[in-house]
Amino acid sequence: MAFIELNNIVKVFKDKNRKDKNKGGDMLAIDNVTLSLEKKEFLCLLGPSGCGKSTLLNMIAGFEHPTSGSVIVDGKPITGPGADRGMVFQQANLMPWLPVWDNIAFSLKLQGKSAAERRAAAQPFIETVKLKGFENHFPAELSGGMAQRVGIARALLQNPSVILMDEPFAALDAQTKMEMQEELVTLWQRYEGTIVFVTHSVDEALVLATKVAVMTHRPGRIRDLIDIDLARPRDTTSAEFNQYKRHVLSLIREESALAHADAIKIAA
Ligand code: ADP
Ligand code: MG
Repeated sequence: MAFIELNNIVKVFKDKNRKDKNKGGDMLAIDNVTLSLEKKEFLCLLGPSGCGKSTLLNMIAGFEHPTSGSVIVDGKPITGPGADRGMVFQQANLMPWLPVWDNIAFSLKLQGKSAAERRAAAQPFIETVKLKGFENHFPAELSGGMAQRVGIARALLQNPSVILMDEPFAALDAQTKMEMQEELVTLWQRYEGTIVFVTHSVDEALVLATKVAVMTHRPGRIRDLIDIDLARPRDTTSAEFNQYKRHVLSLIREESALAHADAIKIAA
């Protein structure tokens, strides 16, 4: 049995606004996704906007439930959120009234741990995400990249066996994004668990992943699952990198064009 298994996942949302009357108000978001991942895998889920990337990630997190099919992590069926799966969102969603260290240790606060215990527990993670010296800063005093570092440290503190990331660097400037990608790869190299990372950036997926799952336009299916066999650190200017990029881009362009064609059909 693989470490993470998505078995025949189907997700239907109720959509009262949909003009496509044939679908009876139900919107098929994910159509039969099957995927398995081993420990230490770094999967990037790539696909056009609205294809169901976040929905799939949220089902692994346990925030959403499949309409049919199952998600199994480490042999256990997922029925809800758990500390074994840490989530990092596009916005860090920090508590503005707590300093960096106490945001990182937030889960321990919920468990009723003392300030001294939380402070001590947070320290190694502050160092991992390179926030030494900023422990006592408040979220409003942080740059976007620093806020995301806090979000990552907060997820790591729970010692999850899976880290789920939903476009965590999408709002960052190009330079910061590149630094964060490099740091995440370093972190992953020392990490024993699995990372599932949602992005709509082909370059980002190819810089990070051991495997890239390219999804179809809605309803989302896995169009192609590609092993990325490139040395690290990844050289985005190399011929090999660009070979992968050409292939993935051609799939994405096709799927985006099909999505636009569908949108026109539905509107007509
Ligand atoms: P992505 O992350 O790939 O952009 P999402 O997973 O957010 O896509 O959404 C996939 C589709 O499902 C979209 O059409 C979206 O509007 C729809 N959707 C997502 N969440 C809900 C929800 N809670 N209720 C109804 N529709 C939803
Ligand atoms: Mg999304």
